[in-house]
Amino acid sequence: MSVTRLATTIKVAKFGGTSVATAAQLLKVKAIIEADPLRRLIVPSAPGKADAKDTKITDLLYLCRHLAAEGQPIDPVWDKIAGRFTTIVKELGLSLNLTAYLTEAHDRIQGGANADYAASRGEAIHGRIVAALLGAEYIDAAEVIFFDRAGRLDPRSYAAINDRCKGSGRYVIPGFYGQAVNGDIKTFSRGGSDVTGAVVANGVNAALYENWTDVSGVLMTDPRIVAEAKPIAEITYKELRELSYMGASVLHEEAVFPVREKGIPINIRNTNRPDDAGTMIVAERDPGHQVVVGIAGTKGFTVVYLEKAMMNSEIGFGRRVLDAFERLGISYEHSPTGIDTMSVVIANKQLVDNGQVNKIDQIIEDLQGTVKPDVIKVVPGMALIATVGQGMNHAVGTAARLFTALAKARVNVRMIDQGSSEQNIIVGVEEDELARAIRAIYDEFA
Ligand code: ASP
Repeated sequence: MSVTRLATTIKVAKFGGTSVATAAQLLKVKAIIEADPLRRLIVPSAPGKADAKDTKITDLLYLCRHLAAEGQPIDPVWDKIAGRFTTIVKELGLSLNLTAYLTEAHDRIQGGANADYAASRGEAIHGRIVAALLGAEYIDAAEVIFFDRAGRLDPRSYAAINDRCKGSGRYVIPGFYGQAVNGDIKTFSRGGSDVTGAVVANGVNAALYENWTDVSGVLMTDPRIVAEAKPIAEITYKELRELSYMGASVLHEEAVFPVREKGIPINIRNTNRPDDAGTMIVAERDPGHQVVVGIAGTKGFTVVYLEKAMMNSEIGFGRRVLDAFERLGISYEHSPTGIDTMSVVIANKQLVDNGQVNKIDQIIEDLQGTVKPDVIKVVPGMALIATVGQGMNHAVGTAARLFTALAKARVNVRMIDQGSSEQNIIVGVEEDELARAIRAIYDEFA
């Protein structure tokens, strides 16, 4: 019999690199945690950049590992790492002695420990500082986060976390790493503390996964294009995935699955503006008046356009076209079709072979031989824009508003794909019209 465990009231709070970069930032973190007794599981990153010219501790650690692998002394770089940690401890006035942890990490990295071990020490050591600051219990992530043979998260981690965090106090679990099958330390990919936070939230059946960073939530669009872009109040996991896929970078890609599985909402918050509500990422939302939740675009696509009379009645045409791409090992992004037309949109990086764009000639040759189109055209330099919002394909007039806005801004729409997810409308425009197009769509829907 399967038993559904009820969600607890526990909140998991993950703090990113900039949130924990200095003693001053850590004092903000402490105030945030102490403001809410439900914030009981804390997942910190390693110290990130204190300012634009600074270097992340994780990057310095990878550098140490690189020096060690070349047989060089790591000390010049190591001294910076150790210096940053000891300054933080001193400025916070903690009676924590880091010597043993620092010496062990130094000696193992110099002695040839693997890159994952080296990189993980940023979180491992910083976690001790955060625990001392909060008077919380420190749990080494290698005790509770496990990877399977294929290097993926082992679901045993969930139960291990739940068992280990049974007490009523606060726990600090450093982000980014865990234990591989052979007992070695292994990390997630870069930015992976987001994943640890999500796994911990799943493990303890948290009511909420707070992800504290340096922006007040996910913005409706890229602020480099629309400086005044508003933060999104509420977005579904699926909508976020559509936006992220098209270039919006918010959370680590793998951070959504563990919480989505249990319907735990994620709240993106700003450590520097803790009163801002941030963005709630949820399973379902009521779109209300907000049909469009966000707009994201990326450059770097090529469209192969095919035309053939009576294509729609030619059985197997679409399959033969896509087969040609498969034979050359090219995966495609979209393939909108018309009655006698079909386009295949490919990311340029798929066309690059040994550093040179050369697969396009091969694809044309193949298609001419196998599907014998009347017309075949290649349109390079395309950008794709996803306008995202749950159910927007049903909201009468949404597409009309989108295309009128683009027409008014004199943007030439080269491709349209409504997508079967009913969450988005994707348009292809020339790369130099990307910013103008995004601006126009934002102005229409924001
Ligand atoms: N410190 C790691 C990185 O820089 C992981 C993280 O911060 O999430 O990638």
